[in-house]
Amino acid sequence: MNTQKKQVPIAVLGGGVIGLAIAFELAKRKHKVTVIEKGLCGGQATGAAAGMLAPYSEIGEDPDDFFSMCHESLLLYPEWQADVKEVSELDFEYNTSGSLHAVFHEADELALETRLQWQKGWQVQSEIVKGQALRHLEPHLTDDVIAAMYYPGEHHVYSPDYVVALKEACLRLGVGIIENAGAVSFADIRQDGVAIATEQQGNIDADTCIVATGAWTSEYEEALQIRLPIYPIRGQICAFEQGMEEVKHMVFSSQGYVLSKRNGSIVCGASEDVAGFDTSVTDKGINRLLKWSHKLFPFTEIMEPFHKWAGLRPATQDGYPLIGRLGHCPSIIVSSGHYRNGILLSPRNARLVADIYENKPAGLDMNLFNPVRFS
Ligand SMILES: Cc1cc2nc3c(=O)[nH]c(=O)nc-3n(C[C@H](O)[C@H](O)[C@H](O)COP(=O)(O)OP(=O)(O)OC[C@H]3O[C@@H](n4cnc5c(N)ncnc54)[C@H](O)[C@@H]3O)c2cc1C
Repeated sequence: MNTQKKQVPIAVLGGGVIGLAIAFELAKRKHKVTVIEKGLCGGQATGAAAGMLAPYSEIGEDPDDFFSMCHESLLLYPEWQADVKEVSELDFEYNTSGSLHAVFHEADELALETRLQWQKGWQVQSEIVKGQALRHLEPHLTDDVIAAMYYPGEHHVYSPDYVVALKEACLRLGVGIIENAGAVSFADIRQDGVAIATEQQGNIDADTCIVATGAWTSEYEEALQIRLPIYPIRGQICAFEQGMEEVKHMVFSSQGYVLSKRNGSIVCGASEDVAGFDTSVTDKGINRLLKWSHKLFPFTEIMEPFHKWAGLRPATQDGYPLIGRLGHCPSIIVSSGHYRNGILLSPRNARLVADIYENKPAGLDMNLFNPVRFS
C-alpha cells in the first residue's frame, strides 16, 4: 500500500469509457487530471459492450434531450475516434456498416413508418427496405423478415480496443491513471475540494472529483447525501467464429442483435437481467440469444459460440443518466448511469462534463439529467 498523499486538481473516479473519455477531453483542454480505477480500466461494462453507435435503432419513440445527446454523439464520432487514434497511435475498429432494424410481422411495419416520420425531422438518413433490396443488403437474413429500417449512418466500434486506445491517449496527454486502487471512499468532502481514500494506492486530495463509477455509483449515496438510484442490469452476450456467410450490417430485432466484427467474430447480444453484481453467464440467457440469432440468420443454427461473457449496464430509475455538478457539494460532478448507450455517448458526454467543469453552457436542457432529481 502506497502511503504517500497526492494533491491533484481533478480526480475522475472510474476508468470505464465514461471516465476515460472525460479525462481525455479535459486533458485536450489542458487540464491536469488523474483517473482512479478500483480495478482495471475498461474491465467492466465498457469491455463487455457490443460497441454499437445506434441511437436510431435504440430509441424508437419520444425523441427528447436524451435522444438529442445520443444523436449529437454519433455525429461527433468520426472526428472523436480519429483523435483518439491519432493521439494514442493505436488502431481500433470503427465500422461504418450501417444497421437494419428487422421486423417479422405486418403490424410492426406500422411502427417503422412512425419512426421514419419523426426521424425525418432530425435529418436521420433512414428508409424502409423490403424484398430484393433487403436481400441485396443482407443476403443471409431469413426470408421471415418482411421489412427492415435501414440506417446507413449507424456505426460500431470494437469496445475492448477502443478503451485501450482511450487509456493510452489519456496517458500520452499526461493524465495520471491509477489502477487497482481497491475500495475508494471519500474521507472528506468540502465546498472547495475532496479527500479520497483508496485501499491500495494511497490517499488523494482533489479540487474537483468527477464520479464516473457506472453501476457502482449508488455506493456513494450516503457520502454525497443524495439518492443515486443507479443499479446493475446484466447483459449476457456471445460470439461465433465467422465462416463462409457474413453479416454485413448491425441487424436488430425486437429481442436482440447480430453483427460482425473485423476480428472474424459474429457477435450476438444481449440479455437484460437483474442479477445484482454477478457477471456470470447462464444457459438460459445464452440460449435465448441463440434462439434469436437462429431466427434472424438460420446459418448460425449449426454454430456454437466460442466466447460468452457478461457485463453490468448502469441503469437508472427513469432511464436517463445523472450528469451535473452537485449544488450542495460543488467540488463534485456526477456522470453515471448511461445504461445501454455509454459507448455511443462517450464523446458528447465528455464534452458536456468538460463544459460543466469550465462553467460553460451545456447546450442541452440539463433538467433531464439533473443528478439530484431523485433526492
Ligand atoms: C453486454 C453489453 C452490451 C452493450 N452494448 C453497448 C453498445 O452496443 N453500445 C453502447 O453504447 N453501449 C453498450 N453497452 C453499455 C455500455 O457498456 C455502458 O453504458 C458503458 O460501458 C458505461 O460506461 P461506464 O464507464 O459508466 O461504466 P463501466 O465501464 O462499468 O466503468 C465503471 C468503472 O468504475 C470502476 N469503479 C466502480 N466503483 C469504483 C470506485 N468506487 N472507485 C473507482 N472506480 C470504481 C469500475 O471498476 C469500472 O471500471 C453494453 C453493455 C453491456 C453489458
